[in-house]
Amino acid sequence: MKIQFLGATREVTGSKHLITTDSGHTILLDCGMYQGKGLDTDADNRDLGFDPKTLDCVVLSHAHIDHSGLIPYIVKLGFKGDIYCTPATRDLCALMLADTAFIQEQDVRTYNKKMDRLHPHKEKGSKYKIEPLYTQQDVNRAMRHFVTYDYDRRFRLFDDVLLTFTNSGHMLGSAICSLEIYEEDPNGQASPATRRWKRLAYTGDLGRLHSHILPSPMLFPQCDYLICESTYGDRIHDEAEVTEEQLLGIVEDTCVYKKGKLLIPSFAVGRTQEIVYVLNKLYNEGHLPHIPVYVDSPMSTNATHIFRLYPQELSDEVQDTLRYDDDPFGFNTLHYITDISQSKALNHNDQPCIIISASGMLEAGRIKHHVANHISDPRCTILIVGYCAPMTLGARIQEPGLKWISIFGMDRRIKAQITRIEGFSGHGDWREMIDYLTRSLQVNIVQRTFIVHGEAQAAETYKEHLHDAGFRNIDIPDKGQIVEL
Ligand SMILES: [Zn+2]
Repeated sequence: MKIQFLGATREVTGSKHLITTDSGHTILLDCGMYQGKGLDTDADNRDLGFDPKTLDCVVLSHAHIDHSGLIPYIVKLGFKGDIYCTPATRDLCALMLADTAFIQEQDVRTYNKKMDRLHPHKEKGSKYKIEPLYTQQDVNRAMRHFVTYDYDRRFRLFDDVLLTFTNSGHMLGSAICSLEIYEEDPNGQASPATRRWKRLAYTGDLGRLHSHILPSPMLFPQCDYLICESTYGDRIHDEAEVTEEQLLGIVEDTCVYKKGKLLIPSFAVGRTQEIVYVLNKLYNEGHLPHIPVYVDSPMSTNATHIFRLYPQELSDEVQDTLRYDDDPFGFNTLHYITDISQSKALNHNDQPCIIISASGMLEAGRIKHHVANHISDPRCTILIVGYCAPMTLGARIQEPGLKWISIFGMDRRIKAQITRIEGFSGHGDWREMIDYLTRSLQVNIVQRTFIVHGEAQAAETYKEHLHDAGFRNIDIPDKGQIVEL
């Protein structure tokens, strides 16, 4: 078989790895979008590196857009095969791909209007105009290709290819994808006697050993070849208990002592539910001050409904909570807001409160309006709980000593406190990943390991850690590189 690495090589977005078996089947592991600021990544996303018409199937590790975001695009370009994933991943994809189509259509409309202003004498529909990668109709068509299988069920993709999903604890529905491919041993003579099952495991993204709402990653079947993520290959996270204490301390300082608002920019799926769960826990324990908490995001609200559908896939802690609290994502002072007028009304409400809203990097969404309206209020706090890519508003407001920032074209004095908590990450740190891999695998059996989904420095450092743990033949592939196994 061959693997071609088509994305997430020395970077963290655009996951796509194409397997071609000796019998000619083509299997794409993830079909992720390159993500960045607006349309900057448009050209990278259009250049797939393969022909969707000849692709047999997609195996999807989880619903995050950097792993699933180009699925409607390949369907639009003629992909006819099946997309295999877990049921929760399918449900989350329906929501997240629709949201991605909506954002693209909006971005493209804004861009084209700008082009019309800059080139007033060009005909409408001229080459200055661009089109979205896909629309809501393409998403609807793509959703018909999904075929779902539960965790730990070994199923047959083709006569000579088997697939098993194992819970990777990174987000609801996330899976390690273990392929077994029956083909010639490259060192043997071509004959039925020399054929054997080659085992390839793709980690997708790996979760924390101790997450609040998700189980620890489950042990996955032994493999001969491993494709492993490395997002935090050079980092160690805070402990979960510290995170809860930190959050409570920030809530008390902002909302009780300073009587201000606590604004939490948060990704709508995963991070928001985790923060809400921790606040719910603090509420149940009687620690949370009696102040209103608003989840101001239709997408977060819809995603939370999907979390409620899969209690069996949440952590033991959530299962225990469910014995006495039938909704671990809701409590008396928590309000889910979908209506835009209610969202706007929060700006005129001067009472202390917590507002959790998307987007996590402050690039768009309702949170950007809340931050613009409150960043000059010294009573308020903006709490960053996730990764913010360089140059996004979320990253820029964290620059030490920064006094002014432009939001919506207006310079604003920074008087609110800007702070961050690291412990809510959905990715394991290097020690958690090594611990997990060495518990799952007999390391000496793994013949080759490929490091993907990490910035260059994280991948290099992680390679050393893997080497120290006994892995050998470790590569950090380049984009487009083909490896024969
Ligand atoms: Zn992910």
